[in-house]
Amino acid sequence: APTLVLFTQDLRVRDHPALTAAIERTRTVVPVFVLDPAVADRSARNRVAHLADALASLRAGLRERGGDLAVLRGDTAEEVSALARAVGADTVHTTAGVTALAARRVGRLRAAGLAVECFPGLTVVPPGEVAPAGGDHYKVFTPYWRAWEAHTWRDPLPAPDRVALPKGVRTGRLPGDDGRGRGALAGELPEGGERAARKRLADWTLHGLADYPDRHDYLAGDATSRLSADLRLGCLSPLETALAADGRPGGSEFVRQLAWRDFHHQVTAAFPAVNVRDYRPRGKEWRRDPDALAAWKEGRTGVPIVDAGMRQLLREGFVHNRARMITAAFLTRTLRVHWREGADHFFENLLDGDVANNYGNWQWVAGTGNDTRPNRSFNPLRQARRFDPDGVYVRRYLPELADLPGARAHTPWREEAPPEGYPPPIADPGH
Ligand code: FAD
Repeated sequence: APTLVLFTQDLRVRDHPALTAAIERTRTVVPVFVLDPAVADRSARNRVAHLADALASLRAGLRERGGDLAVLRGDTAEEVSALARAVGADTVHTTAGVTALAARRVGRLRAAGLAVECFPGLTVVPPGEVAPAGGDHYKVFTPYWRAWEAHTWRDPLPAPDRVALPKGVRTGRLPGDDGRGRGALAGELPEGGERAARKRLADWTLHGLADYPDRHDYLAGDATSRLSADLRLGCLSPLETALAADGRPGGSEFVRQLAWRDFHHQVTAAFPAVNVRDYRPRGKEWRRDPDALAAWKEGRTGVPIVDAGMRQLLREGFVHNRARMITAAFLTRTLRVHWREGADHFFENLLDGDVANNYGNWQWVAGTGNDTRPNRSFNPLRQARRFDPDGVYVRRYLPELADLPGARAHTPWREEAPPEGYPPPIADPGH
């Protein structure tokens, strides 16, 4: 009987332990991905287009090796159980996830009588593999980072030579095959999928990495890797990404960011409610303010550094890390609107939006998570002057401010004749 390989956030053929083990176990394998409304229905079109690219690339990678990818639509557990019955399989291989949804998926497949085996591949170091003495997970980054750095990584796996598919498997359409895919998108969307991602990684290690430590925090500089969406869908193996940078100039700062990613994943594995409940309840009080929330989402709060970040989100499905911190702090600390409102909006629109990183970082900024200084002050205007000193970033996303030169673009309300069509600040952005 063939082995089913259920793909989720691991859309690649290289360094894929679950796939490689399936090929070693049985002569034939059935790779499958399920477009599940429980996940897909909350996604903005940018995200769907990016997923479509990734699935097309995975299917191409499997076909080159004699296999294929079955793309099904519906409830994951039901679809996979039905496929297993149809092809006579009793074993499912999958990459171990960390979310409540992933745990439920595995539980339901097992309840349906399937043997489910979970493999590493989601992170550089699997959640739980480094743990504090006497505890299940690290709650603070710095001690985690020290243990993580000292830990030995597994060896990455090559892509399999051959993936044999049993006869008669119905493979199904990809999203976007109906012509409504990325063609209609106005956004500035990079091509997704394993092939494009590997090229991005190679270009980045060659041309970007060395300057990363000095330049990554500058908003207008675009000096970060932009590999987060490739990592979210697993088009890149996190381990191979870390190995590509490790030991090169700039590499250790970059690898440290990948450790942040691992950190949030091991927190989520231990606390799967991270997207709904305070990780460390601190009794914060929130305000309901639908108008302010709407202004924030649409990028018309009147605070340019906040609005530029929010419009970058809608246009590109991406936001610079510094702008994520500024916009999230403005919502949760200045407007005191609940972190979940902002995090859900990010999650739906970011190409890289994933439960562990998105909600973990939101809770960190909101002061309900694993920040050791939950009440740190965060002044948007000071951040703007420091990380966008010439106003280049805000003018890029706010055409209304095109005529305000230099740092004046950060404080339009101080102009004698404020630019038309741009609102006054809805809250005090500081001095
Ligand atoms: P680089 O600077 O090139 O970093 C390399 C990689 O390290 C990233 O691709 C990412 O995988 C990882 N990384 C970097 N910083 C972090 C971090 N703080 N936490 C976790 N991983 C990190 N990242 C996501 O991948 N998905 C999210 O949904 C997400 N939501 C965020 C929400 C908020 C409020 C904040 C403050 C940060 C969020 N981040 C999220 C983290 C970070 O902003 C992005 O990973 C980063 O901006 C992606 O750009 P890059 O790939 O160019 O990053």
